[in-house]
Amino acid sequence: MTQLKPLKATEETKDTEETRDKELESLYKAYINLQNIIRQWQKERGQYWTQKIVPAKSYPYFSLSSLPEEPVLELVNRLLNESKRLCSAEEIQSAWNVYRLEQSLEDQELFSYFTLAVQGVFKLACQTLSEDLIKNADGEGGYTCPICGQEAGFSVLVPPVGKRFLHCTRCDHEWPGKRVGCIHCGSEEASDQTYLKNENYPGVEIVVCQACGGDFKEVDLRERAVEDWGWEDIRTLPLNYAAEKWAHEQAAKKGLIS
Ligand SMILES: [Zn+2]
Ligand SMILES: [Zn+2]
Repeated sequence: MTQLKPLKATEETKDTEETRDKELESLYKAYINLQNIIRQWQKERGQYWTQKIVPAKSYPYFSLSSLPEEPVLELVNRLLNESKRLCSAEEIQSAWNVYRLEQSLEDQELFSYFTLAVQGVFKLACQTLSEDLIKNADGEGGYTCPICGQEAGFSVLVPPVGKRFLHCTRCDHEWPGKRVGCIHCGSEEASDQTYLKNENYPGVEIVVCQACGGDFKEVDLRERAVEDWGWEDIRTLPLNYAAEKWAHEQAAKKGLIS
C-alpha cells in the first residue's frame, strides 16, 4: 500500500510565514520579468534561430550537447543585462562549458540564468517539430524526455480520470507514463515509495523513492491548475527541503546516520 504522510514544510511562526510570502512574491515578480524578456527574445530572434537548430533523426530530437551555443549565450546575455549583472564574455563561456556537461555551477545566480536561457532555446527548438514527429516520440521517452533528453521533472495526473503523464521542465513536453512507480528508476514496488504532502500545497505530493534514493513531485491537475511549470517547481521548493529533512530523519531512525 502507498504510504501517505503529512509533511511539515517548515516549522514557522506567523512572522516567518509573512516573510516567506513576501519573499515569494518578489521572487515571482523577478521570475515573470525574466520570462517576459525570454518571450521578447523569442519574438525578435526566434525566426532566425529556428532555421539553424536542426532536430536529430532519432530520439531525443535535441540535446544539451548538440544545441548550438550561440542562441543560449545571446539569451543569457540579455538576462544578465536586465539584471544589471556584469560578467565578462570569458566568464560566461567557461560557465557554459560546465553547464552544458549537465554539471552545476557554484554561482547559483548564473546557473539559474543558464537554466532559463536553455529552456527558452529548447522551447523555440520544439516549435520546429511537426505534430507527427512529437507524437512518434511519445512512446520512446521512458523516463527521459523524448524531445530534449532531460530526465522527467514532474509526474502529472490529468483530468478527468487522472491519467499519468511525465512532464519535462526543460522543454515543457509531456508524454504518457506508467500509472504508478518512480519516474527516475521505474521501481513499481509500492513499499519503495513514500508520498509526502503538506496542507499548504494542495494537489502536490512529493514522492520519495527508496529504491533509487531520488524524489519527484506529482501534481494532480484535477486539484490545481498549473500555468507555468518553471514557477511551480520554484514555488514548491519548500517541499523538497522538507522531504530531504524527512529522508534524513528516517535514515537516522534506522541508525544509518547520526
Ligand atoms: Zn524535454
Ligand atoms: Zn526510484
